[in-house]
Amino acid sequence: MDEQMKVDNLIIGGGPAGLTAAYLLLKEKSLGGVEIIESNEEYLGGISRTEKKNEFRFDIGGHRFFSKSSKINDLWDEILPNGFIERKRKSRILFKQKFFNYPISASEALIKLGFIESVLCGLSFIKAKIFPVKKPKSFHDWVANNFGERLYLNFFKTYTEKVWGMSCDEISADWAAQRIKGLDLLKLVLDSFNFKKMNKTEIKTLIKTFKYPKFGPGMMWESAGEKIKSMNGKISMGINATSFYYNSEKKTWEVNCLNKKNNHQLKYTAKRIICSAAMRDVVENIYPPLKTKNEAKKLSYRDFITVAVMMKKEPDFDDNWIYIHDKKINAGRMQNYTSWSNYMAPEKCGCIGLEYFCNKNDQFWRHSNEELKKIAFEDIKKLGIFDNDDILDAFVIRQEKAYPVYDKDYKDVISKLSNEIEESYKNLFLVGRNGMHKYNNQDHAMMSSILTVENIKYNTKKNNIWNINVDAEYLEGETSDKNKAMGSVRDTPNQL
Ligand SMILES: Cc1cc2nc3c(=O)[nH]c(=O)nc-3n(C[C@H](O)[C@H](O)[C@H](O)COP(=O)(O)OP(=O)(O)OC[C@H]3O[C@@H](n4cnc5c(N)ncnc54)[C@H](O)[C@@H]3O)c2cc1C
Repeated sequence: MDEQMKVDNLIIGGGPAGLTAAYLLLKEKSLGGVEIIESNEEYLGGISRTEKKNEFRFDIGGHRFFSKSSKINDLWDEILPNGFIERKRKSRILFKQKFFNYPISASEALIKLGFIESVLCGLSFIKAKIFPVKKPKSFHDWVANNFGERLYLNFFKTYTEKVWGMSCDEISADWAAQRIKGLDLLKLVLDSFNFKKMNKTEIKTLIKTFKYPKFGPGMMWESAGEKIKSMNGKISMGINATSFYYNSEKKTWEVNCLNKKNNHQLKYTAKRIICSAAMRDVVENIYPPLKTKNEAKKLSYRDFITVAVMMKKEPDFDDNWIYIHDKKINAGRMQNYTSWSNYMAPEKCGCIGLEYFCNKNDQFWRHSNEELKKIAFEDIKKLGIFDNDDILDAFVIRQEKAYPVYDKDYKDVISKLSNEIEESYKNLFLVGRNGMHKYNNQDHAMMSSILTVENIKYNTKKNNIWNINVDAEYLEGETSDKNKAMGSVRDTPNQL
């Protein structure tokens, strides 16, 4: 027989959004008991977890902690007092076998791209300013309008297509607008010649320093888990929510789950659900079915593999990460974990993460771990950063649904789905990155939960979580939170 559980607040997902919601609900005391169910059997933190093998630690991509919101910064310090180190950001782009600093300076571009190519880039930028694409719809249109076709071809196209696995003509201009907005090429060039100091407003893609927990982002989320348990919240690991039945008489939810540790089914009855599981998975499994159920199929995600390579010695470069534009190298980006924090590897050792963007149904994802390690070792050889004799071991981490895809349909679909959910239920709250199908960072995921808990507390819909990060420009320099989108550092699948 199924195991039956009852809880006031069932939180689905123990990532930043779920943990924040649980922590804040428990602080309120009057809002009832809280249980988090987390599909991962071992780690809290979701995509922001830190995995560990022997004395080596690996992020799913490096995770910078940066937010313009004082609420978020205060919450980070409250959850992890004295746990942060301050890091300098350094990253470069490997393009045509040359390393370009990021942000690239005009003089460096001149030397490394060559005089003729630099002039062509300049002319194409001027052309784009005089004859822009009138209504930019795609990523290609947006970038070409802002930087010129030539720079688009040199510095955006190959890498972006590696990341998303689709043509830049199919990627929505929204994505570029959300992630690259604020970067003015002219200001950048003038600044690199020191003719004119850059706008004082911090450009979010170019943040120079950031905070980082000394044992990786997972340290923050494990600490949140401990705090939640000390406040009598429950956290159940290895539990995957599979379907959601709404009882319209009792106005409660019955959630069917699979316990991955023993393959048993279990059922929760909950007065309220706060859900950070992917929107598509949730909408497809709500009963009675939603009218928009079939629309959910249109939402797609990009998956992500890291091959973490443990080294006998420290690397002789100090970039946090390097973008790899070279088509001959399979990896899209390389992390240098010890440059994020020395505590990520034993003393005198190094640790490199080769990152591969793919889809779960690709041949690439189906490679065995041993095959993936071989591909990574080949890439390391081509990059010329280490001898393969320096390798101690390697470890493969697969992350499904790492990126919610912004294609031509996504906006319309999330608006239909979220409207139907909000109109149909008063006790189902979608939060977080995949929960809202928002290409967002930890701080945004957390903010969606902060605002949701406030709405629950005051029994209102006043805070509109769908406005978070809608217009980063409007938010530049904002330090107050309520009902406002926030500027934050991005998770850099595209370097600009
Ligand atoms: C490569 C990469 C680099 C990044 N870099 C940064 C960075 O530098 N700075 C930054 O702030 N952010 C960064 N991010 C973004 C950050 O990882 C996310 O914004 C954040 O983790 C989102 O939190 P979340 O709780 O909404 O979702 P998630 O982290 O996805 O957590 C959701 C949790 O729910 C669980 N779950 C899902 N479905 C179910 C289910 N049915 N039942 C039970 N549990 C379920 C999952 O296992 C997961 O643990 C990066 C992301 C990527 C992919």
